[in-house]
Amino acid sequence: PKRIFTFRQGDAEKTADAVAALGLKGANLALLASLDAPVPPGFTIATHAWRETKGAGGDLPQTLKADLRSAVEWLESVTSRRFGGDQRPLLLAVRTSAATPMPGLAESVLDVGLTDRTVDIVAAELSDSDFAYRSYRRFIESYAALVFDADLTEFEDLCDRERERVGWAVEPRNVTEWRMLIARYHDFLERELGAVVPQTPLQQLVEVIQAIFASWRSPVAASHRLLKAIPENAGLAITVHGMIFNERNQKSGRGRAASRDLATGEARLTGEFSLGGRIEAFDEVPEAIDLSRLVDDGTAPFATVFTELAGHVKRIEAHVRDAVEVDFMVGDGALFLMQYRPARRSAAEAVRVAVELVSDAIIEQQEAILRIDPASLDLLLHPTIDRNGELTVLARGMGASPGAASGAIAFTAERAQALAGEDRAVILVRNETHPEDIHGMHVADGVLTIRGGTTSHAAVVARGIGKPCVTGAGSLRINAARGTLHAGDKVLQEGDRITIDGSSGEVIVGTVKLIRPSLSGDFATLMGFADSSRRMRVRANADTPPEARAARSFGAEGIGLCRTEHMFYEGDRIQAMREMILATDEVGRRRALDKLLPIQRSDFIELFEIMAGLPVTIRLLDPPLHEFLPKSESEIAETALMLAVDEAVVRHRIAALEEFNPMLGHRGCRLAISYPEIAEIQARAIFEAAIEAGERAGAAVVPEIMVPLVSLRRELDFLKARIDMVAAQVMEERARRIDYLVGTMIELPRAVVRADTIAEAAEFFSFGTNDLTQTVYGISRDDAATFLSTYMRQGILERDPFQTVDVEGVGELIALACEKARRTRPDISLGVCGEQGGDPASIAFFEETGLDYVSCSPFRVPIARLAAAQSAI
Ligand code: PEP
Ligand code: MG
Repeated sequence: PKRIFTFRQGDAEKTADAVAALGLKGANLALLASLDAPVPPGFTIATHAWRETKGAGGDLPQTLKADLRSAVEWLESVTSRRFGGDQRPLLLAVRTSAATPMPGLAESVLDVGLTDRTVDIVAAELSDSDFAYRSYRRFIESYAALVFDADLTEFEDLCDRERERVGWAVEPRNVTEWRMLIARYHDFLERELGAVVPQTPLQQLVEVIQAIFASWRSPVAASHRLLKAIPENAGLAITVHGMIFNERNQKSGRGRAASRDLATGEARLTGEFSLGGRIEAFDEVPEAIDLSRLVDDGTAPFATVFTELAGHVKRIEAHVRDAVEVDFMVGDGALFLMQYRPARRSAAEAVRVAVELVSDAIIEQQEAILRIDPASLDLLLHPTIDRNGELTVLARGMGASPGAASGAIAFTAERAQALAGEDRAVILVRNETHPEDIHGMHVADGVLTIRGGTTSHAAVVARGIGKPCVTGAGSLRINAARGTLHAGDKVLQEGDRITIDGSSGEVIVGTVKLIRPSLSGDFATLMGFADSSRRMRVRANADTPPEARAARSFGAEGIGLCRTEHMFYEGDRIQAMREMILATDEVGRRRALDKLLPIQRSDFIELFEIMAGLPVTIRLLDPPLHEFLPKSESEIAETALMLAVDEAVVRHRIAALEEFNPMLGHRGCRLAISYPEIAEIQARAIFEAAIEAGERAGAAVVPEIMVPLVSLRRELDFLKARIDMVAAQVMEERARRIDYLVGTMIELPRAVVRADTIAEAAEFFSFGTNDLTQTVYGISRDDAATFLSTYMRQGILERDPFQTVDVEGVGELIALACEKARRTRPDISLGVCGEQGGDPASIAFFEETGLDYVSCSPFRVPIARLAAAQSAI
């Protein structure tokens, strides 16, 4: 196959599957060129060449080098310049072009072709030696960073020393001083790294391409691919084009423009333009841009450029038949289009359009359902600020990605990761963000930038990952050295808490009360469409009343999993739990359990009331008991004091409960078999709560009691007998009838194989796909991350089986268990309550398998409702 594809305004070499072959930038430039948009002439080295290079061990194969030489010759003839020429030397911008944007890949290298010799020729051509040398210095730095892995701060130190020695202030004052600085750079590289920046342009180009290709394997890029399920072998392309001197003078700059106002959908040119470090947003046709703020002398050399731009953007929109965003550059008054993309319409906008099209009878409801990506609904489910309290507004910027978030200030991605690692909510605060900040944005709860508009990197990425974001809060100043944020005379420190509102653009001091979104209007209409199209029910995993309330507001049709252990961590309940664990006999355990009974009962009453007659599945205690015991020395001392026992007793119990393989140890139903009183108390709390809630609310509650980690039918028989006994007791005590179900989780391969027999005792099954995946694969769900990444990199696994059901393995077993269970008990209720219950791809499989419901975290309920509808259509 062809390795290199050329492009120039009005003409581009074509290939099928352009994005996969040429990457986003390459495919884009080819399309723009063929639409007769002004692109800089150049060529794209295709992903096929990446694969050849990888196959050759990383060095460019001779065949590719030969093609590269011809491509450069073509570019020389088109531009009437020569690579390394004595007159009008050709300088190249070399840009990474992956099919999907990805952190961790190499950045662009600009001005390839500058050497100790050509820099002077360029200086003479432009009559601007400062600009030529500034470019050369930047080229050496980026070349050394990419190819030699040099540390850029070393160059800063070197500059500082040279500045002091020679006596210039900002940068060298004349060619002699510039040459001295460049000589220092060369010396440094040779001395410290034994490296030389080649003085042959073609050699520079080859080395840069090799290094960019190699960056595909950087750890950051690899982990991103893992996260996004991007195949390892996709590889990347590289585009090479003539340099545009967009930073050269006041007739140069760069920007982004959209064909529409992205918030309202109204057709007009909007965007932002940066010139000499200043960024200006525009939201009108060109005449309205206040260029005097951009250009010192107030003249408007850009008027024609923007008129031209508006025309091109319109034409591209017409071709793509969707709103577009365009990256552009202006070099010495000439306009160049660099890239276009479909403008990111907000999820709200997409829902609004889909619902409108149905009410205008242009599309059917089912079509509307299929048009919305379930995952995108996440964006509509974000909290907003409660405006009833006092708010101290620190600054205002642009609302760049919806939702509000509070958190501790972190000024770097690394700090954000560290704080998030301590389980703290974080707001990442930057002047502007760059690709290397993405890992920080992922862990942050919100992002705030001082510069940039609603199409800046921060805004685009934040919208993509659904994080609240405020950009362009220009009245704030970051003092990086001190780790402080300044707003006038107010000073905040790193770690101080702020709140951002990604809709209004406000930055607020401290933590603010947030309100869950109301799910009305178009959203509710769309959900209504989904509800009438789906077959499967959607429940939520909820352990506490607030979670249950959130679940209901998102449309959950019951609770599919209440993990009762989570109730024991609240307040001082843990002490009663510890007392129970430390007790030496049943009497002691029952005494402690009696303290927990009223607490559990009132929790269940609340859950039942919130769920108002909908099914509620409550799981008996599941985790190994050691999880409830104190860990640190101080906690051990405190526990001993509280329970009036010797510290040695606590330590002894901790040691006794230690297990080699706790996930396969004394947990699940095994606990309740060892200590039936635990199951009895839990069952009593459930039954008493059902009676009381039924009396208060008048709605009959049918609790579903779920036994975890069953592998033998007799385990279930044993516990069902106890549960039935407690039910009989409570009914007699209260003289009331209670309807209830006893069922089990299917989490172990043996339970799958024996599903027909287990179904004789179980009235429902709920697949715990977290544990089932763990036990079918024999992969610890808590330790998988360390090697699953390698599996995905090597193409051994395509997706994380804990996130999306492994249809061929775990999925096959689920289908088998369903079939066996229905043979025994045709009306058995079958559901899923592992993480996969909220994953659209898994939901499609569960629909196919004929499960009755999925259960997922409250925030994923709308996603599951839509995904269930899509898979039923
Ligand atoms: C499961 O194993 O899938 C499950 C829902 O239970 P847990 O995650 O609590 O082990
Ligand atoms: Mg489990």
